[in-house]
Amino acid sequence: MLHFAADAHCDLLSYLQGVPNASPFAEESRCSLTQLQQGGVALQTMAIFTTTQPGSVQAGAQQANHFLQLLTRYPDKVYTPTCAEHLQNVLREPRIALVAAIENASSFCLENEPLQNGFQQLDKLEHQLGKIFYISLTHHTENRFGGGNYTNIGLKEDGKRLLDYLANKRIAIDFSHASDALAYGILEHIDKNHLPLKVIASHSNFRAVHHHRRNLPDDIAKAIIQRGGIIGLTWLKAYVGNQPTDLLRHWQHGKRLGAAMVCGADLFYYQPKDFPSGVYFERYSNASNFLMLKEDMENFGVQKDDLSNFFTTNLISFLKNLWFN
Ligand SMILES: [Zn+2]
Repeated sequence: MLHFAADAHCDLLSYLQGVPNASPFAEESRCSLTQLQQGGVALQTMAIFTTTQPGSVQAGAQQANHFLQLLTRYPDKVYTPTCAEHLQNVLREPRIALVAAIENASSFCLENEPLQNGFQQLDKLEHQLGKIFYISLTHHTENRFGGGNYTNIGLKEDGKRLLDYLANKRIAIDFSHASDALAYGILEHIDKNHLPLKVIASHSNFRAVHHHRRNLPDDIAKAIIQRGGIIGLTWLKAYVGNQPTDLLRHWQHGKRLGAAMVCGADLFYYQPKDFPSGVYFERYSNASNFLMLKEDMENFGVQKDDLSNFFTTNLISFLKNLWFN
């Protein structure tokens, strides 16, 4: 199977950490190493994901260990890119490149500890994981750094201090779980202080196509585009629309805006009782379905260059620029 896809977000690590007897080969994860291989995935971003609650830092550390364990236990199946050449050759390498990211800064900083502890814990994660792709300050809710996507709260003082700290690192800021107010607050703080920070949305669609708070309004999408960021399109049906192929309408809209779009499928394990009407459309519901999506896009008339940009080039170029330029 030829590799052709690079993806900006999945939750295999929180599955491995949170579910008893979880295996990286279990299909219920929807992004198992086998499914990634079947889907032609050359590079997969592995998010360290926690909700804001006591114990979040411990959960984050455990997920970082799972990332390292994947690399040490399955060196014949996965590796992590450590230089520009690795990224350059990602499509020729038969193994899957794993890239770490952090979804919610509560993964390294508790609500009630000194901020300096949080920075030290972030440094430790960075030391362990190697390169980190992005950090989103929040998840759905509010934390000490700012307001998540289900709030109207903006950037807080601790959020400003965190951005100042991140300015010395090559880690992008992810807007996928930011409230609009938080996204604007981050942009304003970056501009006011001339911080060399890149902004992206790792797994969000467009609000102009399907209205949902997790989708990007055009002005925030445009700000990401103007600053050279990428936008990862997600498969969660709540953010896609009424049918799976509405995902192509999001792609079309992004194309009109001039966005550098990438895959940001956001595959995760869930229990049916928590999502009675399901999370995904059957058509795009596990990592083997990148093939189906590619076929659907071809049939929709998406040009060859646009396909390779969407499935690999945009993400690989962004990472090369972020880490090695
Ligand atoms: Zn998410």
